[in-house]
Amino acid sequence: MYRSATAISRGLVPRMAYSLCFGSLSPLTLSSASQVRKLSVSTSISAAQHDPSSTPTPSHKRSSTSRWKPMCLYHTHGKCNMLNDPAHLEKFSHSCSEEFKVDISEFVNKQRQKFDYFLVLDLEGKVEILEFPVVLVDAETTRVVDLFHRFVRPSKMSEQRIDEYIEGKYGKLGVDRVWHDTAIPFEEVLQQFEVWLTQHRLWGKELGGHLNRSAFVTCGNWDVKTKIPQQCNVSKMKLPSYFIEWINLKDIYLNFYKRRATGMMTMMRELQIPSLGSHHLGIDDAKNITRVLQRMLADGARVQITARRNSPEDVEFLFKNRIR
Ligand SMILES: [Zn+2]
Repeated sequence: MYRSATAISRGLVPRMAYSLCFGSLSPLTLSSASQVRKLSVSTSISAAQHDPSSTPTPSHKRSSTSRWKPMCLYHTHGKCNMLNDPAHLEKFSHSCSEEFKVDISEFVNKQRQKFDYFLVLDLEGKVEILEFPVVLVDAETTRVVDLFHRFVRPSKMSEQRIDEYIEGKYGKLGVDRVWHDTAIPFEEVLQQFEVWLTQHRLWGKELGGHLNRSAFVTCGNWDVKTKIPQQCNVSKMKLPSYFIEWINLKDIYLNFYKRRATGMMTMMRELQIPSLGSHHLGIDDAKNITRVLQRMLADGARVQITARRNSPEDVEFLFKNRIR
């Protein structure tokens, strides 16, 4: 649970200005060149911002139901207790589907996909994993079905080191308070993730621990190839079988558009998709990668497995042309 509103208003100062942006434009409508605008969005939530009395609502943000808002990161952890507060709901999104409106009629080239669902994953944390966000995307409609988001508490660091690490990493994004209020150890995150996968019928012990009808989509190989096994090692866990294979969206991008993109921002720039939220806040990056994936599905890319782990040391890359 997070601190009471009284405690928040008494002692804590918002770390960054709340600012955004634009509304009512889906990634797909934005794709037409005439409508493309250079957009810069910087936003997030701190505990103080979570208190509706602490930040006034800027005039340009009133009334529209479809404008983009930052997600309530307490809500993504199932810990928002302000759902009855209209001012809070006005300020922070509590549903991920609103910002991902998709017009299927624009999908002129859409291909049949091997998977029914994609799990867009974008980890944060260099020393240990600090954030584990996953966006669940319907492969047929490209709609966002659900979202799993947990902040992760390192298991091999002193409290002081964690405080410094979080201050440096999330302090500037204004979400260090919510991180401290919600972060749990990696093994608990994966337990909760497995419950979530099971609820969506995407995973089960009867499947040998593999994913059902779905695959991870990441921007690069680092997340599943390197960081997850490293963290499992640090957390003294066996690597779960569902991390055996994945889709590196940059390789799909290279083979489909015949262009080399070094990162998420390059893909977004080239596809003229505005980036929303805070870069390097995992949940916002995962949503931006989702926007790229949605566009590629609509454009007719076949989004298939690009890498597979044959043994702990042996990862096989399935595309000849790939980003190295
Ligand atoms: Zn909330």
